[in-house]
Amino acid sequence: MTHILIVEDEPEIRKMVCFALKNASYETSEAENSEQALRLLVDKRPDLIIVDWMLPDISGIKLIRKIRQREIHQQTPIIMLTARSEEEDKVSGLDAGADDYMTKPVSIRELLARIKALLRRSQGYENILTIDRLQLNETAHTLHIEQQLVNIGYTEFNLLKFFMSHPNRVYSRSQLLDLVWGENVFLEERTVDVHVLRLRKILKTYDADKMIQTVRSIGYRFSADLTNK
Ligand code: CA
Repeated sequence: MTHILIVEDEPEIRKMVCFALKNASYETSEAENSEQALRLLVDKRPDLIIVDWMLPDISGIKLIRKIRQREIHQQTPIIMLTARSEEEDKVSGLDAGADDYMTKPVSIRELLARIKALLRRSQGYENILTIDRLQLNETAHTLHIEQQLVNIGYTEFNLLKFFMSHPNRVYSRSQLLDLVWGENVFLEERTVDVHVLRLRKILKTYDADKMIQTVRSIGYRFSADLTNK
């Protein structure tokens, strides 16, 4: 199901947009400030984000920059909402990484149309990563190994996605935490080991666990050319 995060401090607008999105069969989560939004990015993995310009903690522009710094949200469509209509603001919104821009008061019909268009574009990308026998579909959030659909947890999926998009490079546990879980999340480095272990277990069924290598006293590396042979 497509998940949309709305970041807006005005409860009336937030509720109205959420209501409309749910009616249109989207899954939604709501944040009233940037801090909440950044936390929700980690818990949910929104397919599209709606960001209001004026937020109580940091501006929507700054929030968009922070979102774009995160590996897994570099391509996530973002629509910026604002009460301003000056061309200059529109440009800085787009510069920060927003994909589209709407001026308040927001027409729900128009918003839904733009969401559809953006999702079509983003989900129309070749969002399939293939390495060896592993095929990861970022849009559908599925993993196939040797054409078989594999049951994989949310975090393991994100971790594998990161590994498959950055093969043959070593990452420390703390780098992985920042890049996969997000910078504002304070977790023990052991968390990485736990999820690597789970991921290896999944891959082991298909004899592909050796692709994830432990690099002593550094961290982990995903070796694209090393299946269990
Ligand atoms: Ca606002």
